[in-house]
Amino acid sequence: MDVKFEIIKKDVLGRVGHLKTKHGIIETPMILPVINPNNIVIPPEDMKNIGAEAIITNSYIIYSNQRLRDRAREEGLHRMLNFDRPIMTDSGSFQLSVYGDINVDNMEILQFQNEIGSDICVPLDIPTKPNERYDEAEKDVTITINRLREISNIKHIFKDNIIVAPIQGSTYRDLRRKNAIEASKLDFDLYAIGAIVPLLEEYRYDDIVDVVIASKLNIPLNKPVHLFGAGHPMGFAIFVLMGCDLFDSASYILYAMDKRYLTVNGTYKLSNLRYFQCNCPVCSKYTPEEVRGLENEDIVRLLAIHNLYESFTEIKRIKQSIMDGRLWELVQIRCASHPKLLNGLRRLVKYSNNLERYDVSSKSAFFYGGAESNRRTEVIRYRKKLRNMPIKMTPALITTIPSIEDIKDYKSVYYLKPPFGPYPLELSETYPLNFESPEILDKEMVRTALLNLIVFLNNDKNKGKDVTFEYDKRYRDPLIKKIKKMVDVRLINEI
Ligand SMILES: [Zn+2]
Repeated sequence: MDVKFEIIKKDVLGRVGHLKTKHGIIETPMILPVINPNNIVIPPEDMKNIGAEAIITNSYIIYSNQRLRDRAREEGLHRMLNFDRPIMTDSGSFQLSVYGDINVDNMEILQFQNEIGSDICVPLDIPTKPNERYDEAEKDVTITINRLREISNIKHIFKDNIIVAPIQGSTYRDLRRKNAIEASKLDFDLYAIGAIVPLLEEYRYDDIVDVVIASKLNIPLNKPVHLFGAGHPMGFAIFVLMGCDLFDSASYILYAMDKRYLTVNGTYKLSNLRYFQCNCPVCSKYTPEEVRGLENEDIVRLLAIHNLYESFTEIKRIKQSIMDGRLWELVQIRCASHPKLLNGLRRLVKYSNNLERYDVSSKSAFFYGGAESNRRTEVIRYRKKLRNMPIKMTPALITTIPSIEDIKDYKSVYYLKPPFGPYPLELSETYPLNFESPEILDKEMVRTALLNLIVFLNNDKNKGKDVTFEYDKRYRDPLIKKIKKMVDVRLINEI
């Protein structure tokens, strides 16, 4: 089958896409709920109504249980689970990472997945823990790459399914890069970043950003990327912005079993909740107190249903944000809800120089949403533009408050507004210079604007030109001293 991933709309590295499988199209980003074939709490059939376009189950669990194995071979996976949409199967790598050993090899488990009709098959990779010794992590990556080579020789057998190429390498960026580069050479249909669950459990979002970026930037951009085990909805937005298209979630059920209620802003214990903050069928029918009064089995099922609704709702919000070119804004809102996520965002904007090259989509607006906005790809791109932007007519005025009186004395007028810095007044209605930022300024945005001004004045085309910069007291900053050495500067007192 000619597997195709079609990108519908992009925003930064995020995208809405269509992944074709033999059981239909998955619109990405999408989350695949994990089904444990030994313990089905919510039947896959019901998952469809909640929003699941696809599910994931574990082929190793099926394989190692004779009853399930025989049934799967006889009926096929889709009939066995009563689900007619795409099913992805994991290989047992997770069990390998937990128990250290499993009784199946790479080709055996992959062939089994093929045999039972899985749409998306995962080879047996070696998940390496975070901060593992470098030589150990390197050894594991070599095994994973060798296994991918082994499969690539017999890919024709699997022509009906999508085969996943896992990317490992612990917390070492160079190993992630190496794994991604070598896997990409073998031309797989889907790439998956693995072994981040231990990082997620410790809320190490900054390290996750390093791992994802090192992997993603070395995977062909036209190929979809799965992020293994990232099932908590609070992280979806930032992961999508980095170019992750698929997620799997056991979280919906694991948290439910622990009587925890997932929201995009974090996790609540059912015991502490007085109000459900959602309008899903569970939350609109019951109060937390009523749920607490139910049998354990029902509590778990109801919380799991809510957790899934919350996850799928977030996926829809993310998709709409991509369509609107507003994914950065959503990510900033999400990351403001937890300091550890904010760590992730702060790490991410350090990569803005790299991301800027990929952020090519046209957007409608830029809303300033706090310090991290200063490092958004649009601001970085504008700074690059300023390096070559000439001031055509002089004398020129650059002002923080344009007034009609002043303007008449100059041949060209530029407005300076944070965080973008100077721009010709006539461009103020075009993207991204139609940006919105608060009039009550913060230090970072002032500095960004002034730094951009310095870049503008300092470029080869503008050095030594007759320029006046007038600013109001909101812009008092040590950088003004530097600007005074370059052009005429005056303070205006209108605000
Ligand atoms: Zn709910």
